[in-house]
Amino acid sequence: MGKAPNREKGDGRRRIHAVLGGILAALLVLGFLPAGNPTARAASEADLKQKIRSLDTELRSKEGEKSQAQKDLNQLRADKERLKQEISALDSQIAETNARVENLKAKIEENTKKKEEREAALKAATERLETHREELQKRLYRLYVQGDMTYGEVLFGARDFADFVGRVEILSAAVEADKRLLVEYKRAKDEVERQKRALESLIASLETDRRALQEELSRLALRKEEHTAKLSTYEETERQIAQKLEEIDAELARIAAERSRASAELERIIQERRAQEAQRARAGQSTVPEGIFTWPVPGYYAISSPYGYRIHPIFGTRQFHNGIDIPAPMRTPIVAADTGVVTYARWMSGFGNTVIIAHGNGVSTLYGHIDYGGILVSEGQVVSRGQQIALVGTTGYSTGPHLHFSVIENGSYVPPCNYVRCP
Ligand SMILES: [Zn+2]
Repeated sequence: MGKAPNREKGDGRRRIHAVLGGILAALLVLGFLPAGNPTARAASEADLKQKIRSLDTELRSKEGEKSQAQKDLNQLRADKERLKQEISALDSQIAETNARVENLKAKIEENTKKKEEREAALKAATERLETHREELQKRLYRLYVQGDMTYGEVLFGARDFADFVGRVEILSAAVEADKRLLVEYKRAKDEVERQKRALESLIASLETDRRALQEELSRLALRKEEHTAKLSTYEETERQIAQKLEEIDAELARIAAERSRASAELERIIQERRAQEAQRARAGQSTVPEGIFTWPVPGYYAISSPYGYRIHPIFGTRQFHNGIDIPAPMRTPIVAADTGVVTYARWMSGFGNTVIIAHGNGVSTLYGHIDYGGILVSEGQVVSRGQQIALVGTTGYSTGPHLHFSVIENGSYVPPCNYVRCP
């Protein structure tokens, strides 16, 4: 298309003098200013190179920051993972210790019940022992002191001394048996008492164990609490680093975009400089450069936008430019590149006022952005090589006066420099 993107103004973020430099260069190309003033342009070029270097330094430093933050984040995530594992280990320890405490509690309860049984047994044994002791004492008292009637009757009913002795012995044996029984009762009572004491000591030791485990539990719970608090600070730090990384990425994108703009701008300025140098070199030439075709804008030999794909310096999109742009002042004469028949001489979308000339053998030339009232030929007219056909303008999709010149071979655009002698 006839668009001349390299003459677009710079955007607002660019430094003012770079913008001014760009405008100056544009004015030069457009012919609004006398040719020259290379100092301003050189300054702008040097400034841009300096800017790109400093943006590169900034990029490297941001990359360094990013890799450090990434490293910190990885370290933190590893620490966090370890902490989580420790917490989960603490959880199982706590569960296990709890189970042991429960087990101890059950044992304590069981042994306490046993102890209570022993206490009941002891009470019964003591009562039995007391009852028996009282009965024995009464019987002995009656036998030896009071002279029990029953014993007395037994004894005094004796037929003779032998019988009497026999009867005393029998009575004594009965008393002895009672005494032995008393001893037995006492032994049984002592045994129950011993068992009770053993159970008490067992329960005390179980209680000691239980208290120790309970303390262990408190310690574990405290450790878990500390770990959990630490985990939450880790998570907060992780959030902060992640946010910082996002900011660094945004900064990186911003710097990279700025660098790409500066680089495109630099490329544009260098290209313009080369074109202008070429034009200056030809300025002294009196003859128009001749190729297969003659040059369509005599006296103006710069190309501000070449044929082919190029990256748009502002939008950054890849576009195909199907011809060459030759900047020249408004209403500069445009001539037919070769002899032919005018096949098109009116408005065309994008190219504005347009002339197309067919030269035979399927080759045509197209002249775009012609000024209003600048078409000097009509369709069907035969024109000769070098004949004036139109005036330079900026109609259609164009940002400044220039001729857009395309060569079409059998319906396809081909590089115009195959036909005209390009600078
Ligand atoms: Zn163009």
